[in-house]
Amino acid sequence: MRKQYDALVIGAGYAGAVSARRLAEDGGKKVLVLERRGHVGGNAYDCLDDAGVLIHQYGPHIFHTNDRRVFDFLSRFTQWRRYQHRVIANLPRDNPEVVPKGKSTDGRFFFPVPFNLDSMKNAFGKKEGERLGKKLLDAYPAQSQVTILELRQNPDPEIAAIADYVYEHVFVHYTMKQWGQTPEEIDPNTTARVPVRLSQDDRYFQDAYQGMPLKGYTPMFERMLDHPNITVETGVDALERLELADGSIKLDGEVFSGPVIYTGQADELFDFQFGPLPYRTLDFGFETLERDYYQTHGTVNYTVDGEFTRITEFKLLTGQRLSGVTTIMKEYSRAYTGADGEIPYYAIINPDNNALYAKYADLAGQYPNLHLLGRLAEYKYYNMDAIAARALTLAAGLL
Ligand code: FAD
Ligand code: UDP
Repeated sequence: MRKQYDALVIGAGYAGAVSARRLAEDGGKKVLVLERRGHVGGNAYDCLDDAGVLIHQYGPHIFHTNDRRVFDFLSRFTQWRRYQHRVIANLPRDNPEVVPKGKSTDGRFFFPVPFNLDSMKNAFGKKEGERLGKKLLDAYPAQSQVTILELRQNPDPEIAAIADYVYEHVFVHYTMKQWGQTPEEIDPNTTARVPVRLSQDDRYFQDAYQGMPLKGYTPMFERMLDHPNITVETGVDALERLELADGSIKLDGEVFSGPVIYTGQADELFDFQFGPLPYRTLDFGFETLERDYYQTHGTVNYTVDGEFTRITEFKLLTGQRLSGVTTIMKEYSRAYTGADGEIPYYAIINPDNNALYAKYADLAGQYPNLHLLGRLAEYKYYNMDAIAARALTLAAGLL
């Protein structure tokens, strides 16, 4: 006889796993989790590669949050490696023939990203960098950071020159690679994620809680989903077992009246009836090298040239001790076409696409027990902690 479930969760990433755990644990609900991929964890999934290096299969994931509730919740399922992410830009010198004393001659140089007061010195020389840094501090006395789009509005000619420099050397080419559009054309919240820092803080994130799950993300998810009230089926496309019609949802041909939390694409759920939602996808170039380390920082951004946006070296994120071998990954961004095997990683947020999404959200609203949750289902640019927070809140509301 078919087991009876009280709640159905589609997708076993943060959105699905966190809400499933809460419903099962606090509400005593019997939860069925269906996951299309062969594993749990969604895009945060990690695993050992052939060389034994712990890699992030779907792009580098660094946990950071100011939300104590989320941090405490996840900490029940993992210990943490203390880790503060630091990123540098790697770019060609504007004048490769001028080589500063004691510096290498390969024609490239580096500075911290987000661009900060030290980056200013790398870019303009120590003395001039200090002077311009002071000028910036005077211009924004009450702020610890400023967005590039805000900085570009500043009428002072010297500050405008700094803004142009940062725009050209940090933002415009990287953004073109990542989005196929300029910083002005994309949602301003996107570039605002990486501000210009009016300090020497060279950390990528400034949140109170930062780190990497000590044994990796996948074991954390496995523990979260390990509960007597939770059944997980991987390798299952929920859409093959669901029917949505006239406000009612059927699972395997029978009406399912409990909550259904759907964390996949909203357009796909409704057969793309208003047209597909645009996304960016990524191609990942993994390379395993016979050396201890490849680079100095967990992630190096190629902000001006190159086909890829950034190179991540996993051992530097995870702290895994392994000698003589390391795995790096280059990220190449392109338009999502919906072809088999392609993954829609980033919603392309703009008024037209939001309006298209709203049509799907309206349709979903006609199903009283259906809840769209997650980066795909809500068509938003959420970090892991934001999704975990939303999942905790949704589950609490359902109990
Ligand atoms: P997902 O992780 O996408 O999970 C959705 C799950 O639903 C998937 O496993 C999918 O297979 C499944 N699914 C979809 N449709 C169906 C179906 N029909 N049937 C069954 N299952 C289905 N956030 C950070 O906080 N820090 C970072 O450093 C960071 N780095 C990132 C780097 C990259 C390259 C990317 C793309 C994202 C990054 N993020 C980061 C964001 C993070 O990945 C997301 O916030 C998080 O994964 C969202 O979780 P989710 O559950 O909404 O979605
Ligand atoms: N960005 C940039 N140069 C950089 C880093 C980021 O232009 O060196 C811009 C780019 O548009 C990117 C956005 O800022 O998409 C957000 O960067 P973040 O590192 O947060 O992106 P994610 O890790 O989510 O891909």
